[in-house]
Amino acid sequence: MDIFQEATNVDETLDPPDWADVGALSHRILDDAIAYLEDVRDRPVWREMPAEVRAFFGAPLPRSPAPAADVYDDVARNVMPYPMGNIHPRFWSWYMGSSNFTGALGDFLAAIQGSNLGGGNHAAALMDSQVVNWMKEMVGFPASASGTLVSGGSMANIIGLTVARNVKAGVDVRERGVGSMPKPLRYYASDQVHSCHRKAVEALGLGNQALRRIQTDAGLRIDIAALKAAIAEDRETGFWPACVIGTAGTVNTGAVDDLQVLASVAAEQDLWFHVDGCIGALIAIAPENRSLVAGIEQADSIALDPHKWLHAPFEAGCALVRDASQHRNTFAVTPEYLESTPRGLASGEWLHDYGLQTSRGFRALKIWMALKEHGVEKFGRLIDQNIAQARHLTRLIEAEPALELMAPTTINIVCFRHRLDGASEESLKAFNTEIMLRLQEEGTAALSDTTVQGRHCLRVAIANHRTRRGDLDLLVTEMLRLGQEIEAAISV
Ligand SMILES: *Cc1c(COP(=O)(O)O)cnc(C)c1O
Repeated sequence: MDIFQEATNVDETLDPPDWADVGALSHRILDDAIAYLEDVRDRPVWREMPAEVRAFFGAPLPRSPAPAADVYDDVARNVMPYPMGNIHPRFWSWYMGSSNFTGALGDFLAAIQGSNLGGGNHAAALMDSQVVNWMKEMVGFPASASGTLVSGGSMANIIGLTVARNVKAGVDVRERGVGSMPKPLRYYASDQVHSCHRKAVEALGLGNQALRRIQTDAGLRIDIAALKAAIAEDRETGFWPACVIGTAGTVNTGAVDDLQVLASVAAEQDLWFHVDGCIGALIAIAPENRSLVAGIEQADSIALDPHKWLHAPFEAGCALVRDASQHRNTFAVTPEYLESTPRGLASGEWLHDYGLQTSRGFRALKIWMALKEHGVEKFGRLIDQNIAQARHLTRLIEAEPALELMAPTTINIVCFRHRLDGASEESLKAFNTEIMLRLQEEGTAALSDTTVQGRHCLRVAIANHRTRRGDLDLLVTEMLRLGQEIEAAISV
């Protein structure tokens, strides 16, 4: 008897004993998924979880098996009814896309194929590069530029800011570290810059103070005179101006910095020009509004976010770098266990040389399938549609004496609040917060709130291909009704 033989007889696998059972369950899951999206408008945007659902997630590590159908039932009961809500037509909180079914199939197939996009010679790797090439084309970058798909905009920004640091450091910062730089680097962005840039400069070892927040004008765009003054002051006081970050669509109000002027300031001052285009880079594909982001094609690096206005299922971000060798020189390392071969699986490009991850998911497929199905022009029209919807809401607010617009509407973000006669800023905040929470709890709409120029307000960000104008009309009606209800309760 051969012991080898005996051992293989007991080998276990995660594959099911009978694939036919898996088929039945899978078809049920697929039917449920389609029904889930078909009815999304009829369900509340969001709902609080009952105690037994919360308790469900305290269950201990499972030690013994359960049938897959039971596992799915747990998910159907405890997870699917309590989503964040961003696939709902009246979800307008923070800033996120609303996903799409074809993209979800792409994620499924990517998981089935299971390929690792660290690189190599296989079809998924070619598709990953193709999607990056398509992104370059969308924003007007040259074919010689490089890029990488990452988890989201925050990582895409880190990629751009890291290349900027290494190119501008004045020393071999990869080898010798930030401590060896002759002068401390300075990055510039408006005071509306997204918080991920703070995390980035901290993680890059430059420190939060290396990111100078420049004041904004009445439209909440970076003030160019103040930017130039800050650069001059830093040069005089021993700092090393390295990078200016332009924001194409701020998360607070949707303001778009003047990218053409920033490009020329960066060129004059020998700074790296990075554009945070997580919200607005893709306006470049929207026929009616693309002039808003003119100048983005002059950037040295761009962060964009396919899980926002391309509605890719989470996660998908993309970093683009004009000079491919600067990009690669920032991240490439070839350890002995990842050397290329002249033929075979290891003969393809190592995509991990363009970022921080080694193993990478097949994010490209969900983006690729939705782009092929609809064509880029439709995505452009949907962006224009959201911007038109935000303008519609802005007009409703301006026409309604009980409501007050709190920032200019540039793209798809509207900042406003309900008035309350004679109330202090503090009571206005409490009053509007109460309206926002009741809209969520009643399942009508999900808004978020923010502070613009020191004043609290509610915020509607429409990156949603399911929203219709009637949804915004309903929002205004419901806000006025809740406003009256809450005001009456306060005054009794
Ligand atoms: C969303 C956003 C980010 C961060 O992107 P994630 O995909 O959430 O990581 C960065 N900058 C801006 C302007 C954003 O709107």
